[in-house]
Amino acid sequence: VVLVDKNIFPRDKPCGGALSALAVDCLTGMGLDGWAQRYPAWQELRFFGPRGRQVGLDMRGRRRGGYFIPRFELDAALCEAATGAGVRLLQGVPVTGASIEARWVSLQAAGDVPRAKILILAEGAVTALADSLRLTKYGPNYMAVRAIYQYEGPAAAELHFLPGVLPCTAWAYPAGAGRVSVGLAGELRDINAGRLNLEAALADFVERHALGGALAGKEAVVPLAAAPIRSRLGSVRPYGTRVLLAGEAAGVVHPMTLQGIGAAMESGRIVAQHALYALEKGQFGARDLSAYALALQRRFGVEYRAARVLNILLHSERVIERLIGRAQRDPGFASLMASVYVGTQSALGTLTPANLGRYLMWWRQPRRRRRG
Ligand SMILES: Cc1cc2nc3c(=O)[nH]c(=O)nc-3n(C[C@H](O)[C@H](O)[C@H](O)COP(=O)(O)OP(=O)(O)OC[C@H]3O[C@@H](n4cnc5c(N)ncnc54)[C@H](O)[C@@H]3O)c2cc1C
Repeated sequence: VVLVDKNIFPRDKPCGGALSALAVDCLTGMGLDGWAQRYPAWQELRFFGPRGRQVGLDMRGRRRGGYFIPRFELDAALCEAATGAGVRLLQGVPVTGASIEARWVSLQAAGDVPRAKILILAEGAVTALADSLRLTKYGPNYMAVRAIYQYEGPAAAELHFLPGVLPCTAWAYPAGAGRVSVGLAGELRDINAGRLNLEAALADFVERHALGGALAGKEAVVPLAAAPIRSRLGSVRPYGTRVLLAGEAAGVVHPMTLQGIGAAMESGRIVAQHALYALEKGQFGARDLSAYALALQRRFGVEYRAARVLNILLHSERVIERLIGRAQRDPGFASLMASVYVGTQSALGTLTPANLGRYLMWWRQPRRRRRG
């Protein structure tokens, strides 16, 4: 197995570095759970509503959630685990094209890349190679920005529902010793229509909201960086002759939390199984590889449909304020909300008939008022 990347590791990637419970399961599968335990776990998660309500949840002693691991360190550790397992790492090698031939896949690259029987494309949200192989239907649907600041305060994690950014959140997460990562995401259609300026929104978030204003006036130690996010399973066909798409290139980012690290690793596990079947059987046609698309749907499809339902609700400031209000009164509900973001609770599990009735009423109330 040859792993080709245009970057040289360790390298940074714009990311909050928040690992979900799924990411921790995947790290455990790779024998990296002991290593991950060196990093801060989710200890306290605070939600801030768009109209001022807030609620905090102490996560200590709860079912194991995730960790905050800077990508600089996480991705280097993953590369080391891969090379330890026998993978040949070709770094600093940009791939500019892929040709699918009768018996091989050849890559056009600046370095000496051997031809392969099968290509697993995990190029992230910007899918130039998958586009050239005509495997993509739509582009990314979100954009996110992130910057890192010096901060010596307690390692609480914050999620802010800011007006104008909904249904996405702004975040402040621990980012290694004495540092905090702040960022926010927005829908690309809002950005393209000029309704949302992510850079200005982040500057305002840092000045007025994040960590109670503790970062106001400070200079970022890692300046703002932006990157698109692809969170649509249906935005690509994740297979073709001798090629499979994995990670964000396959659209596996969670539609509500926009967490993609765990899902990318999980899709890597699934894609590896399907590549192995193909190698064992010697069958690399698009039809032979199509079972991979079904496997991705089975793993993520139902959960992501439920998450999209919740996302519709999270467009409403009023609904969010009511959710936070209920979480203030009801610790069980607060725990449910936090667990969805940490990934120990599925989005689907929040759609009980009782909750669905409640959400529906909340969703309808402001509309009725507007019409009246
Ligand atoms: C600002 C921001 C914050 C985020 N925060 C979180 C978070 O806190 N938690 C979370 O779970 N997710 C988060 N995400 C999402 C997460 O970062 C991604 O979903 C995840 O990194 C996807 O992993 P991947 O391996 O599929 O792609 P990437 O991590 O993007 O890796 C793709 C790799 O492909 C290489 N590559 C691409 N094209 C080529 C080429 N032509 N030739 C050679 N190499 C190439 C790149 O160098 C890169 O190393 C965030 C995203 C953004 C933008």
